Amino acid sequence: MKNRDIFDYYPHMQKIDSDIFSRVLEHTNSYDESRYTSADVAQALKQASQNRLSITHLKALLSPIAESHLESMARISSAITKRYFGNSISIFTPLYLSNFCESKCVYCGFQKGNKIARAKLDEKEIHEEMQIIAKSGLQEIIMLTGEGREYASVEYIARACAIAKEYFKVVGVEIYPMNVDEYAVLHESGCDFVTIFQETYAPKKYARIHIEGEKRIMPYRFDGQERALMAGMRGVGFGALLGIDDFRKDALATALHAHFLQQRYPHAEISISIPRLRPIINNRQIGPKDVSESRLLQVLCAYRMFLPFANITISSRERAGFRDHVLQLGATKVSAGVSVGIGERSAKEKQKDKKGDDQFEISDSRGVGEMIAMLKSQHLQPVMSDSVYVG
Ligand code: SF4
Repeated sequence: MKNRDIFDYYPHMQKIDSDIFSRVLEHTNSYDESRYTSADVAQALKQASQNRLSITHLKALLSPIAESHLESMARISSAITKRYFGNSISIFTPLYLSNFCESKCVYCGFQKGNKIARAKLDEKEIHEEMQIIAKSGLQEIIMLTGEGREYASVEYIARACAIAKEYFKVVGVEIYPMNVDEYAVLHESGCDFVTIFQETYAPKKYARIHIEGEKRIMPYRFDGQERALMAGMRGVGFGALLGIDDFRKDALATALHAHFLQQRYPHAEISISIPRLRPIINNRQIGPKDVSESRLLQVLCAYRMFLPFANITISSRERAGFRDHVLQLGATKVSAGVSVGIGERSAKEKQKDKKGDDQFEISDSRGVGEMIAMLKSQHLQPVMSDSVYVG
């Protein structure tokens, strides 16, 4: 059977009138990384210190030649971060609600057909997991599911948001993309942030690695953040899974996606993640390929210079030493006490097996206490929540 075209919307998927997808693709398709010179990079760095970075400057900073300017990039990125964020670093944790999935993405342990233990938390289990997380002092949570409305319906996720609001000040989701009215239901239930990883912005590669399921419909996914903002969400998150395709083009596309949306919705809080590929259950060959740590740092610094106000998250996929280092150079958000399985925290407390298997392997398994101690030792200020709710 022929796979569905990646531009062929399912009937239930809402189309919005937005040109951001085509504008981003136009820039990435014409991005010739090799044409930038050291002089272009030096000019971009000069402009960055004065907060005047153009899209052309961003392209120079993401180019291969900029790798030899990494020290200067890191210095300027660090100064910009201190200017806008001081020494504060936000801490949050993810909670996986369900690992059932109807999509088949080659890089993910949850993909349909992969033989793993599947599970979904019920309300009682959601409370149990959240009570354990709240006890650690965390006030921000992001909830995740696989793609599959059948297993994790809008109502189910909305209920999880309402429960989360009992325990946490900041509630976000990283779930399948929804229509505006569905995001509005989540927002009314206490959700403020929606993160959607585009994985790659290259249509041909996108089609090759998203073999089956709703995730295959690329522009519907791309417009997800805009629909979330139209529904009243406070902020949106972006990320390309660096290493899946040309990471420089994907990093450029991610930054432009966030930038164009920020121009259209100036009140939106923007955050960007910089995940790299990690091994999964039944496929340990998957890895970040040509995206070395120094290249990942280059991307991070370029993001910081181009989007000075954006939160940048450094994932627990990365090793502890690298995470600690980049928290001084541009990252402003870090996860702690991470579990990527289902019901893992309460299972540990009860000394039982977790309910469902992991999405991928993590590298940094430090708990909240350890993360706070590390931040303080680096003279950084751990922040559990930047929100004050009145009323
Ligand atoms: S990345 Fe998301 S949609 Fe794709 S297999 Fe994993 S959980 Fe499912």
